Amino acid sequence: MFSISSIHPIATAKHHSKQPLLQQQKQQCSAPYVNTTPSHLSLPLRIKHLHARCAASDSVFNHDIGVPFVSTRASGEVPEVNSRDIKLKIAIIGFGNFGQFLAKTITKQGHRVLAYSRSDYSRAAKEIGVEYFSDADDLCEEHPEVILLCTSILSTEKVLRSLPLHRLRRSTLFVDVLSVKEFPRSLFLQVLPKDFDILCTHPMFGPDSGKSGWGGLPFVFDKVRVGSDPTRAARTEAFLDIYRNAGCRMVEMTCADHDKHAAGSQFITHMMGRVLEKLALENTPINTKGYESLLNLVDNTARDSFELFYGLFLYNKNAMEQLDRMDWAFEMVKKQLSGYLHDLVRKQLMLETTNEQVGFDQTFMLPSPADNPRQTPPSAAVSENSKPDFVVVNGNNSR
Ligand code: NAP
Repeated sequence: MFSISSIHPIATAKHHSKQPLLQQQKQQCSAPYVNTTPSHLSLPLRIKHLHARCAASDSVFNHDIGVPFVSTRASGEVPEVNSRDIKLKIAIIGFGNFGQFLAKTITKQGHRVLAYSRSDYSRAAKEIGVEYFSDADDLCEEHPEVILLCTSILSTEKVLRSLPLHRLRRSTLFVDVLSVKEFPRSLFLQVLPKDFDILCTHPMFGPDSGKSGWGGLPFVFDKVRVGSDPTRAARTEAFLDIYRNAGCRMVEMTCADHDKHAAGSQFITHMMGRVLEKLALENTPINTKGYESLLNLVDNTARDSFELFYGLFLYNKNAMEQLDRMDWAFEMVKKQLSGYLHDLVRKQLMLETTNEQVGFDQTFMLPSPADNPRQTPPSAAVSENSKPDFVVVNGNNSR
């Protein structure tokens, strides 16, 4: 069973919160190199030829594993590593909707893809050109360079803890694709041996939005822990190249920032889609473009599992605040409408009692928007108690 308290970002923050993130990363990445690099990075011959050149110059070369680096600018500088031609052995754990979607592009780019999932996806895997394993031990004994976790947010901890990590090479790169980011970051840092590299990612698209290609679609990543050895950097870059090559818009961002932005955009989108779904909206003969986009929103969000939506809420600490803001905004608009209505009825009643002769257009005109200063929604800075709770009636704030 997953326990949020043991892995919740807040619960685990004590290990990391004292230092700024970049400083932590710098320290993690500058640890002295121990020979933990996989010996099986598959490199084309062309790069291997550079070995002799690099070894003869001042370039960095890892003699233990035979992985060369294309050039260095000057002694002491970080070498440039050509990751373009590295073909990786990538194991996808969780071969459902999203895992299969990613596998199609990854195999097309020439990487070797292995997969393991709770359900049997051997037939689907075969069609995509993926080697399917029904046993996690067997998969790990293949020593993939990258483990790509594509499990549901809710099952990730259970799945990760059940993996036979001891069967993997010591410096395996772990990547996740969860739609929340602080949670897998904390989980990985807590569970994975310190020799493993960690890359947290979120492809901000799915089988629907990315069906005709990934060009221009945002891909968020955070190099949480990548060992200082250049081969490990090259492996991470080779993995990121999958998205670069597909034309994604690469956005490097901390997991914390991602979750703030995603709660205010992705969670609200999913929430609105789920709410509108409850209304069972139907096609009409007079659909406007706006209405069409609402129908599309319902369609897109309903195709994602409810578990995914629930994960967006439960595992992003900013989501609850957004839910409160939506509640507040809905109430505000309702109160504004009833405020206008109240005023209109009152004026009408006054007319009837005084029998005053006033021109129609003056009497029944709704107050202009200028009479109603726009109210701002509660923000993170506004506490629960200080939230505005007033109704605007013709420009007067009344409690
Ligand atoms: P999902 O419902 O979030 O996850 C389905 C996957 O989780 C399947 O591989 C499933 O394995 C596995 N799973 C669920 N419960 C499990 C359990 N108790 N034990 C073991 N495995 C379990 O749907 P999804 O769309 O495929 O998303 C997968 C991940 O990708 C999620 O973390 C999501 O946040 C992320 N993501 C999705 C999208 C998207 O557009 N769908 C976009 C970006 C990121 P079985 O199928 O074998 O049961």
